[in-house]
Amino acid sequence: MIIIKFGGTSVQNEEAIGRVISIVKGRLKEKPLVVVSALARVTRLLCSLAEEAEAQREENVKNLLKQLRERHFNLAKNLLAARQDLLEECLAKVEERILELETFVGGICLIGELSPRSEARIISTGELLSSTIISYAFNANDISCHWIDARSMITTDDNYLNARPDMEVTEANIKRIVGLEYRGADLVLTQGFVASTEKGATSVLGFEGSDYSAAIFGMALGAERVEIWTDVDGIRSADPRIVKDTRKIDVISYEEAAEMAAMGARVLHPLTIEPARKKNIPIRVLNSTNPSCEGTLVIRGDQSPDGPKSVAVRDEILFVKIVSPKLDGVTRMFGKVFAALYPRRVPVVLAKATGSEVFLVIPEMAGDLLPEALEEIGTWAEVTTYRDKAFISVVGRNIVGFEGLGDKVISVSGKVHLANVSANMMSENFVIDRDRLQVTLESLHDYIFKVNN
Ligand code: ASP
Ligand code: MG
Repeated sequence: MIIIKFGGTSVQNEEAIGRVISIVKGRLKEKPLVVVSALARVTRLLCSLAEEAEAQREENVKNLLKQLRERHFNLAKNLLAARQDLLEECLAKVEERILELETFVGGICLIGELSPRSEARIISTGELLSSTIISYAFNANDISCHWIDARSMITTDDNYLNARPDMEVTEANIKRIVGLEYRGADLVLTQGFVASTEKGATSVLGFEGSDYSAAIFGMALGAERVEIWTDVDGIRSADPRIVKDTRKIDVISYEEAAEMAAMGARVLHPLTIEPARKKNIPIRVLNSTNPSCEGTLVIRGDQSPDGPKSVAVRDEILFVKIVSPKLDGVTRMFGKVFAALYPRRVPVVLAKATGSEVFLVIPEMAGDLLPEALEEIGTWAEVTTYRDKAFISVVGRNIVGFEGLGDKVISVSGKVHLANVSANMMSENFVIDRDRLQVTLESLHDYIFKVNN
């Protein structure tokens, strides 16, 4: 079996879904489980819908529901124009789901209160709608497709908006249900992102959760590979929206891809990589608007070459310097700093210590409890927080073997406030002034990939 996952832009309209059908058609022999996201921008629309309902803005709620209905109705009509019988059935199902949502959101609007549980239920609608329409589109193209409700398979905890699966239960469900549904079908199709708690309430797997779903299905079914279809030619050497002339990474290890994500690159989420890594299932990141491009292969470390793969950036960070008047030693310094951070669950991207100093890189969105933590540390040390810094990383296996990165960063940025090689030697990181980020990024990228060519 293989898993084929399509993101929102890959299913955004009739044309895109046409491409999806032809991609899947070419792979039917490999017994695919197709996993789909909501249509592009629909999850965002549903988040606004939830917000507007909570704020009891009825007009806006109505408006958003109208947009949702029109978008899905038009899509179904365009895709199923040649099959009136299927179109009617499909529209009835779409309407049923939207009516259900309308009633539910009406309730939220009345009470003006939105719990994470209610919000999960609202935003799961995107995938339930898109998968319904796409499954009919396959059937209209003479591919007999069975639709499966992912909520009957992925069982999670009750952290509704960022739910984590019980892997044992989930794996057993997936094996049993996909096995059953594959009988008499050319294809089975389900939703990414959506899941349900043990008690049967709808939950979702969080931002970019569909990729994670695909990896979970892949692991449970021992798939030959997981294909993640997006709208770029695979994973890039830098974010193409920021850097010109990026290049495609042909092969990268699970660990490097996870490191890239941790260092701020918008690639596969580390959570996605973990289930695949565990069972050594290759992931291929592909472009549905350019299906003949081989994309990026994510595989085991020993099958991926050494050296820099990508330059990643986190610009929304706080750089914190903690200086103790005493020579406390690394153990005490770390111990005291994390005694303040840990109970408040402050996420730390990077920490570095000497006997009297600790430097931290913390995401700007570190939560409300950071000031309190820093205040506590401030009772025994001098704490300075910089908001004008950026964090730049070069990611690749055995990165220390690649010369000249530090020199390059210092010469272009003017000043490096912190330099670090990660413990797994998979990234070299630098804290620099944010106003020097763009030039540094461009010239570093240029240096690495021109030298490397
Ligand atoms: N639709 C969800 C989101 O936009 C899940 C996904 O597409 O991965 O985050
Ligand atoms: Mg996505």
